Amino acid sequence: MKNSSDLVKQLKAIVGDEYVVHLPEDLLVFERDGSPENEVPRLVVLPDTTAQVSQVMRLAYENGIPVVPRGAGTGLSGGAVPQSVSILMPLSRMRRVLDVDVTNRTAVVEPGVVNLDLSHYTEKYGLHYVPDPSSQKACTIGGNVGENAGGPHCLAYGVTTNHVLGLELVLADGTIVEVGGDVRDAPGYDLTGTVVGSEGTLAVATKITVRLMPLPEAVKTFLAVYDDMDTACSAVTMLIGKGLVPAALEMLDNLTIQAVEPYVHAGYPLDAGAVLLVELDGMDETVKVESDLVGNLLAESGAREVRRAETEEERQLLWAGRKGAFGAFGRIAPNYYLLDGVVPRTRLLEALRYATDLCAERGLGLANVFHAGDGNLHPIILFDERQPGKLELAMRAGGDILKKCVELGGVLSGEHGVGLEKLAYMPLMFTPEDMKAMLKVREAFGNDGLLNPDKVFPKEGEVAEYIPQSAAVLNAGTGSYI
Ligand SMILES: Cc1cc2nc3c(=O)[nH]c(=O)nc-3n(C[C@H](O)[C@H](O)[C@H](O)COP(=O)(O)OP(=O)(O)OC[C@H]3O[C@@H](n4cnc5c(N)ncnc54)[C@H](O)[C@@H]3O)c2cc1C
Repeated sequence: MKNSSDLVKQLKAIVGDEYVVHLPEDLLVFERDGSPENEVPRLVVLPDTTAQVSQVMRLAYENGIPVVPRGAGTGLSGGAVPQSVSILMPLSRMRRVLDVDVTNRTAVVEPGVVNLDLSHYTEKYGLHYVPDPSSQKACTIGGNVGENAGGPHCLAYGVTTNHVLGLELVLADGTIVEVGGDVRDAPGYDLTGTVVGSEGTLAVATKITVRLMPLPEAVKTFLAVYDDMDTACSAVTMLIGKGLVPAALEMLDNLTIQAVEPYVHAGYPLDAGAVLLVELDGMDETVKVESDLVGNLLAESGAREVRRAETEEERQLLWAGRKGAFGAFGRIAPNYYLLDGVVPRTRLLEALRYATDLCAERGLGLANVFHAGDGNLHPIILFDERQPGKLELAMRAGGDILKKCVELGGVLSGEHGVGLEKLAYMPLMFTPEDMKAMLKVREAFGNDGLLNPDKVFPKEGEVAEYIPQSAAVLNAGTGSYI
């Protein structure tokens, strides 16, 4: 392996002096994403073009150095957390919108384009990019591709994979390839679908062709207020069971309301057991008819109050409460661990009760704000890491809740990915043979353990045991979290 100063020199020759970070105090900034995991990278390199990405990858490959791609580092499962031996490669300088084809409703963007910026940019054409993670003011389209991100409005319109048509990719050895195209269903294997959600382990996306959708003619947003979570959960099942698929169907529980309302003033009643945010969008006439229907159904569902946002300002305020919820938890607890599990919608209540009882038994706080329509839970375990043992308790409780999601017929992650966080839980869903088959895909992409290694799949021999990864890391005494 090259000594570090040679490597720095060569990397600087590729990307320019100021875009190679190598001083220990500067590297510290890059040790985390949004998850509890952390490790300081060996070097950080910020390329500006596909050619530079390719040259960096080739150099790293020839020297046997792992590369970890990174977007904005808002990921919640540790996917962009580097290793001490790796080069971390943020794509944040590559943030150009390269093309908007208004007639065909597509855009070609670089990976560092921030999710919400794309919709702002295409607004003037009456178009927007639909997948809207709650982190959309910060997260990048490249990171969304890495995680197959979802968001409140993915219920009706689908997650990232449903909106990506084609990709320019740089493989582990620096080779540049294109997969997919400008239209759906390009012939050959669906490598676009394979790469979306692969958490930076197959290739680095350097150009992304996405679908854009027309801004809806009409939007109607409801806030339904419930005395308890049970009734709110039944309302979710009932609405969808009636064949209605709203654009968004989100739930916030009482503790979340307590955290967010005094700060955002969204108008959520502080004594509500839960609120549902229901949004309909589409053609004027359709939204009108569906609004009446949904208004009536919510009233019949046991809601003690059903409000409609009458103006765009009122609507924005209702959403500000939902989108600002995670930040608001800092008001009620010094630390939180945000989980991401999925259960069939009909098992929502069971999963929530399990999580509530478990956290109460273990002296941990629990809040819930989640994509109810998708059955995508986000239990938020609240704790104070300064209290001895609490962090480990929170991590273990998180593991048990995810295990329950799988037992209930759900999955380990709805949108945040596996990364480092859920490595150890993969055997709950997959046999060693299943995982070996998936790892062969990595080999087929030419990743000889050098592109975001040690993420997603546990190492052979570690696959049989169920250990919450973060708790295991904590026992090894490698540092603090959150
Ligand atoms: C407050 C908050 C709310 C959130 N809400 C949501 C939500 O509603 N829905 C949701 O899905 N997620 C949500 N997230 C999680 C996170 O924002 C998403 O996973 C997002 O897609 C990550 O984007 P990023 O740019 O930060 O990527 P990073 O965190 O930097 O990276 C994520 C993964 O993608 C890989 N990657 C990054 N760029 C590339 C590239 N160009 N090519 C290949 N791989 C790449 C990385 O290696 C890593 O594995 C939330 C996070 C926070 C902090």
